[in-house]
Amino acid sequence: MSSADVLKLMKDEDVAYLDIRFVDPRGRMLHVTIINDLVDEDFLEEGFMFDGSSVPGWKGIEASDMKLIFDLDSVYIDPFYAERTLAIHASIVEPDTNEPYERDPRGTAEKAEAYLKSTGIGDVSYFGPEAEFFVFDNVKFSDKINKVSFEVDSEEAAWNSDTDYDTGNTGHRPGVKGHYFAMNPMDANQDMRSEMLTTMKDMGMKVDKHHTEVASAQHELGLIFSSLTKQADEIMKYKYVIRNVADAYGKTATFMPKPVKGDNGTGMHVNMSIWKDGKPLFAGDKYADLSQEALWFIGGILKHAKTLNAFTNPSTNSYKRLIPGFEAPVLRAYSARNRSGCIRIPWTESPKAKRVEARFPDPSANPYLCFAALLMAGLDGIKNKIDPGPASDKDLYDLPPEELEGIPTVCASLREALDSLAADHDFLLAGDVFTKDQIMAYINLKWEEVYAYEHTPHPIEYAMYYSC
Ligand code: GLN
Ligand code: MG
Ligand code: MG
Ligand code: MG
Repeated sequence: MSSADVLKLMKDEDVAYLDIRFVDPRGRMLHVTIINDLVDEDFLEEGFMFDGSSVPGWKGIEASDMKLIFDLDSVYIDPFYAERTLAIHASIVEPDTNEPYERDPRGTAEKAEAYLKSTGIGDVSYFGPEAEFFVFDNVKFSDKINKVSFEVDSEEAAWNSDTDYDTGNTGHRPGVKGHYFAMNPMDANQDMRSEMLTTMKDMGMKVDKHHTEVASAQHELGLIFSSLTKQADEIMKYKYVIRNVADAYGKTATFMPKPVKGDNGTGMHVNMSIWKDGKPLFAGDKYADLSQEALWFIGGILKHAKTLNAFTNPSTNSYKRLIPGFEAPVLRAYSARNRSGCIRIPWTESPKAKRVEARFPDPSANPYLCFAALLMAGLDGIKNKIDPGPASDKDLYDLPPEELEGIPTVCASLREALDSLAADHDFLLAGDVFTKDQIMAYINLKWEEVYAYEHTPHPIEYAMYYSC
């Protein structure tokens, strides 16, 4: 779209406000709302200044001016505001040079796409994320969160979601939804999920399906694949719609990776492929009908998985999901069939649909940094012909200890992931996609969470140690 097109759209749609949206390093969407009188061609082309020092992880107070520049193709009418509002996604540049601001995640995603082209390996990378989420009752949620996280089992958590479990009597009611693809009335949230998906479709998003997930009170909606930066924008919209539709239903949605003990956590599997000259680079005649490049891509991801964890699993809670037994990976292995390793190659007959699924990411990730880092690790694999080793077609959760030996794992904590990022990040610096300053600032920001977590007595410690 040109700026003239955007202005015409604003006029045709009777738009009262332009809502500028951007994303901080932690992956939170921020916005500022501009009255329509101010929005003309100059405004749309020149961008909007703001104070970057007030955003955690960005500039210091002494150099705080930053400029938002608009992606004119990213516009959509916001479905939740009472006043007619056009939303637009923005990246951040230095006001004096108009160069991308190095700590802007969206700018990093754009640079990763440009870097792929510059290597000659491919023209475009496609990302198909599957972000799961839990929905709980909004009522007295803060009172119940301790019970949900630390005391109740998954069945009680489901009561929290679908009924009031304080008065629950499981004996004479339909069973609580507690499985994949559950049917109503056990699945009480069909209409809510349909409304989420329809809202996304009305916003111009490409969506395909929705269903209950394996854990009680857990759900998933399907986004169709798209190119890297665009798909990261779509994940921000996906979370926004899910949170707001859940809110309208008197519920609250969470993307935290492990809200309930003893049940599946929340993943964001990321399906990836690269295309060159209009052809799928990952289809071939090697293992699982992959190409040699796809195997090297896997090699790069497995090699750098512990560093990737800092971006793909960037919360202290992420590591409560990456444990055996809940369809989340622990071992750095790949396979066509099994879902217990870090990488799965989904079965497909079509070379066009050939893709690699990274199963360790979760939706606490900043999608721009997550996708960019995954692409950089995969490209490092292709450039350096990193052999992923033999595939592991066994159930990795059930391997005897002697077979487990020698298979590397993902990180066990955010602390470990940040240490890995500090030690192994040269592959991210290629083409100046990530910068050292950005990585160090990110580590500092995330250390705040590690400190907060490690310095806080945990409710389970009272149970274990109060009377020790
Ligand atoms: N919830 C699982 C995870 O943590 C995935 C389950 C699924 O998609 N079938 O990754
Ligand atoms: Mg899925
Ligand atoms: Mg799923
Ligand atoms: Mg999947």
